[in-house]
Amino acid sequence: MGQKSNFYVEIRSLHSEVTGSCFVCKISFNNGVKKFFLVDVGLFQEKEYLDWNEKLTFNPEDIAFTLLTHNHVDHVGRLPLLYRRGCKSRVYASIGTAMALPINLEDTLKVMQERYKKTKKNVTKFDRNDTDNKNNIFPPIYYKEDVKQVYNHLKGIPYNIWIKDKKIPSVSFKFLPNAHLPGASMIWVKIKEPEIGQTVNLLFLGDWNTANVFQGRFKFPEELRYVPFQIICESTYGSTRKAEIKESFQQNIQEAVENNKTVLLPVISQYRAQEMLWYMKKMKEEGKIPFDTPIYFSGPLGLKYIYLYQNDKFPDFIPERKNFLPSALRLLSSKGSLKYVSIGFGIYIITGGMGSNGPSSAYLKVLLPNPDALIQFSSYCAEDTLGRKLQETENGEEVQIGGTPVKKLADVRFTSELSGHAKADELLEFLSEFKKIKALLITHGAISQREAFRKLAEKANVAKEVVIIDRNNYVRLNPWGILDKKIWKD
Ligand SMILES: [Zn+2]
Repeated sequence: MGQKSNFYVEIRSLHSEVTGSCFVCKISFNNGVKKFFLVDVGLFQEKEYLDWNEKLTFNPEDIAFTLLTHNHVDHVGRLPLLYRRGCKSRVYASIGTAMALPINLEDTLKVMQERYKKTKKNVTKFDRNDTDNKNNIFPPIYYKEDVKQVYNHLKGIPYNIWIKDKKIPSVSFKFLPNAHLPGASMIWVKIKEPEIGQTVNLLFLGDWNTANVFQGRFKFPEELRYVPFQIICESTYGSTRKAEIKESFQQNIQEAVENNKTVLLPVISQYRAQEMLWYMKKMKEEGKIPFDTPIYFSGPLGLKYIYLYQNDKFPDFIPERKNFLPSALRLLSSKGSLKYVSIGFGIYIITGGMGSNGPSSAYLKVLLPNPDALIQFSSYCAEDTLGRKLQETENGEEVQIGGTPVKKLADVRFTSELSGHAKADELLEFLSEFKKIKALLITHGAISQREAFRKLAEKANVAKEVVIIDRNNYVRLNPWGILDKKIWKD
């Protein structure tokens, strides 16, 4: 064991399950000085946690700096709230994440405003004192000027270079590539105690994946292999092995097109929408579907991400994948009523990956009663979404779409093969590349998944110690591993 010191790092997760990702990392230096930084500041989206969105467990004026792993709303959606409450410090992200962030934050604000308008009739202005948990009324937690404040403090950093912020000069950090999403990172934070020379190395994996279609497969960075890391690791697919997921998505589309069926692909605006367009291009090039098969795209937010990915300044793409648009592509307006759009033969890539938000619900309403349609979902569908309802509805039964009963006669399928998260065996394979993991802190997954992954990680012996951290259970770390486990109540 090392010499006695007061140096430790407290890692507290503000999220309980999947959404609202935020780590508060408090450093206690040997001389008693305490400073903290944040990794991610996500929005809570599960119904039971919505009232946590207004709550911060720290004073935003004291944040030394904030690091972002990637541009998903459950990792960045509360950032403007920090500035509304007096934060003045910097936000660092990879260049790709920094470029994508404005699209996301402006949309998040719009979604909050629209939800508030819907639940609160005759609203003329947004009043934050209106929060009413019982009736599910949640006013937006910030305004446009707060979003602008984020931009004023945001700094995009290339991968693989060490950065320091003057507010804690003994901490350096580095963004490393992560295939979860174009622009996503893992973040290495090196905390050096200046008086006693001890170091804690943290690695935040964020949401993590091994490969994506625009950047290919990432190689293990050799420089990480022998670092005594304490790794903060997600567990979305903590109990699933890659081989358990049947790969059927391309074949489903191929068969539907051969049988002249209309295909609807409800997609998430960022990455999945562009990935789908690329798959259609590839399937045409490989002769799986005819070259002239019409591909339709609708979704204003999805369109913004198409332009972003095609922007020459958006980094790290495999060059030939910059042009991911298939032949016979037509953009459809998402404004106005579907009454005036006839849905004929073709492949419709429509945003709203869970079938609820976005134009996809209007297309679902038209295509669901059509036995000659294939509706292929490729995203996780949360509770209370149309996608989830369809998952639970037998063929021939009715579902309510916008107050109208609609019969489910189309062939509706779900797949998780395109998910942006690594499966349990892929994560373990990655973790076993490291030779000196002191502690593995498992987080960011449903309770059953975290528990399953903890058991697998212990069995695989990837780290000296394995613990689960969540909103109520946090840890203090020193250079040798976990110093102690703590409990915190809201
Ligand atoms: Zn994510």
